[in-house]
Amino acid sequence: MTEDSEKGPAEVVRYERRGPVAVVTMNRPEYRNAQNSAMTYALDEAFYQAVTDDEVKVIVLAGEGRHFSAGHDIGTPGRDAHVSFERRASLWWDHVGKEGAESRFARESEVYLGMCRRWREIPKPTIAMVQGACIAGGLMLAWVCDLIVASDDAFFADPVVRMGIPGVEYFAHPWAMPPRIAKEFLFTGDRMPARRAYEVGMVNRVVPREDLETETLALAEKIAAMPRMGLALTKKAVNQAEDLQGMHAGMDSVFGLHHLAHAHNAETSADSLAGMDPKSMKAAADGS
Ligand code: ZN
Repeated sequence: MTEDSEKGPAEVVRYERRGPVAVVTMNRPEYRNAQNSAMTYALDEAFYQAVTDDEVKVIVLAGEGRHFSAGHDIGTPGRDAHVSFERRASLWWDHVGKEGAESRFARESEVYLGMCRRWREIPKPTIAMVQGACIAGGLMLAWVCDLIVASDDAFFADPVVRMGIPGVEYFAHPWAMPPRIAKEFLFTGDRMPARRAYEVGMVNRVVPREDLETETLALAEKIAAMPRMGLALTKKAVNQAEDLQGMHAGMDSVFGLHHLAHAHNAETSADSLAGMDPKSMKAAADGS
């Protein structure tokens, strides 16, 4: 038994109510909150609970421990990419038992692009509270939130170009930051410090690490004073504007390129991740 397989959904993600604010916390700090499918579905459950609870006005997404999220789980003992879950984000069939691109496309349509889009449409304001690492799949979780509050030790990176892949599945890069900055961010895979993320408009606030929770909850409570319907319609208005700027269709087209890259890797190297695992990604990042 791995540590994770002993953890139930309620432990992989924690749900708390603090007045009008629901705090949803990723709880795999031993793996820097790497997102496996168990966590994905536990997050979805927690968001659903927050949406249906009329007392909740605002949702905060947090990560337990020193880091918000190191990304998708590509190498912990709790990796569960070959496990079936009850699908919620799409009507695509289950990936388990399918081969090649069919399996990858079905899985990523559901647990990555589909879930992220579903969470972006949550009709209540969401705030990501980010400390430490926010890498690749971690970015997707922060980006689906309406606001991002980062601590001064936070950093953001999408290093998957090292795998020959043009960015993570939820390709919000050119909407989350100016296109030229997005290219630099992807071409180098470098860490973008919180201060720089603030400068390019990707995060709303940068606060000292020790004030992160207080400042995020204060912002959430301030927003919670607004009428529920006003907030829901405002969120929809801005999301619609982003989609009119091509975000939805743009992501669909990049998702095709993303899967071309996975297929190319599978044909020409060890696997669809080009033989990269967390260790080799870190070694590449460190230049060793
Ligand atoms: Zn992928």
